[in-house]
Amino acid sequence: MDIVLTGTGSPLPDPNRAGPSTLVKTGDTHILVDAGRGTVMRMAGAGSLPAFLGAVLVTHLHSDHVCALNDVITTHWVMTQGNVPLKIYGPAGIAEFVERQMHALEPDIGYRIAHHDVLTKGPQVDVTELAPGDSFAVNDVQVTTAATEHAPVKPTIGYRLEHDGATVALAGDTIPCDGLDTLVADADLYVQTVIRTDLVEAIPNPMMQDILDYHSGLIDAAQTAARAGAKRLALTHMVPAPRPDQYPEWIALAAEHFDGEVIVGDDLTTVSI
Ligand SMILES: [Zn+2]
Ligand SMILES: [Zn+2]
Repeated sequence: MDIVLTGTGSPLPDPNRAGPSTLVKTGDTHILVDAGRGTVMRMAGAGSLPAFLGAVLVTHLHSDHVCALNDVITTHWVMTQGNVPLKIYGPAGIAEFVERQMHALEPDIGYRIAHHDVLTKGPQVDVTELAPGDSFAVNDVQVTTAATEHAPVKPTIGYRLEHDGATVALAGDTIPCDGLDTLVADADLYVQTVIRTDLVEAIPNPMMQDILDYHSGLIDAAQTAARAGAKRLALTHMVPAPRPDQYPEWIALAAEHFDGEVIVGDDLTTVSI
C-alpha cells in the first residue's frame, strides 16, 4: 500500500503545498481522501487520475478539504465519458454538497454534451452518506470509519484503510478523541492534519486564535500515535507550514512523545507500508 500526500497545505495559500488530500494506492485501487485545492494536479504527479479512483472519501465539508471536488467530478466525467459512476463517501451533508456542485456545473455539462457526440450524459456520481462506525469495502480495501471531533464542524469522519495486512489511518481535522484512537490503533501509518499550537498562539490574529480549539497540535498528534500504538506518523496540513530547515525541529518536538518515525509531509511524499 502506497500513501501519497497529494496535498499538505491548509486554507492558507502556499505555492508549494496543494490543499489537503491524500491518495492511497493498492495495486489498481486508488482511493482519494479529501480534495483540497490543486488535488487533480497533484494526483497527476502521483501517477493517478480521477478516472482511476475506486472512491473518494471525504472527512468533512470545510472548504479546504472539498474545494477541488468539482474538478475531480468533472475530470472523472470527461475521461470516462460519463460511463462510470464516481463513488463518493462522506459524512451527512455530502449528498447535498455534491448535488449543489452538479447544479453549479450545469452550464459546463450542457456545453460538453452539446459539443461531443460521444458524451450523452452528465457526470455519474454514487454518493453514500456515512454514519460514524460504518464499514465497507472499496474493491479489496476494507474501510472503517469513526467519529472525530472538530466542533463546531459536525459531523466529521476519520477513515482506517486495511489491505493485505497493512493499515493506514487518515484522520482529517480533529482534536484527540476516542474515535481517533480507534482509527489509529496499531496502524502502520497515521496521517494527521496538525497545527503548531505554540506558534499559532503567537500570531496576533483572532481568526488564527480560533483554530486552536479544533485541531490536533503537533504534540497531540504525537501523543495519539504513541497511545494508540501507531508505527509511523505523517504530518500534513501544517499550520504554519514549516520550511524544510525547520523540519528537524518539528520531528524533535514530536519525538519527545512518540518513539516511531515522524514524517513531515511535502506534496507527493510517499509512504509505503
Ligand atoms: Zn476542518
Ligand atoms: Zn482543514
